[in-house]
Amino acid sequence: MKYDDNNIFARILRGDLPCQKISENEYYLAFHDLYPRAPVHVLIIPKGPYGDAFDFHNQATPDEIVGLYKGVNSVIENLETSEGYRLISNTGHHGGQEVPHYHIHLLAGQKLNKHSIA
Ligand code: AMP
Repeated sequence: MKYDDNNIFARILRGDLPCQKISENEYYLAFHDLYPRAPVHVLIIPKGPYGDAFDFHNQATPDEIVGLYKGVNSVIENLETSEGYRLISNTGHHGGQEVPHYHIHLLAGQKLNKHSIA
């Protein structure tokens, strides 16, 4: 996938758009979803220019991959997820991806519908 530098998350990473930041490191940024579908609805994104899950897994460095997934764990540890959570990554047209920058949704805080998607 050719990366679109002007997607919303690229603009958030550049500081051109605000976000409700939760945490970050050199490799990831975690922030609240603007239209939460659960009491906890967080997006965790890599800082590098990867359009989807495949591009990230295929092209990111080992440090970038570890850095992103440490970010997922940081969110799990620091928000209310003691009763469980759901991780979702919508990819491409059939997957329902709206923003073409790889992101992981973390949903928690209530019993989630088996078929609910973020
Ligand atoms: P997806 O449909 O998997 O691409 O998810 C994109 C997510 O980004 C949706 O859940 C939106 O609610 C969320 N979103 C869109 N714009 C923003 C924004 N400016 N800040 C935070 N979340 C956003």
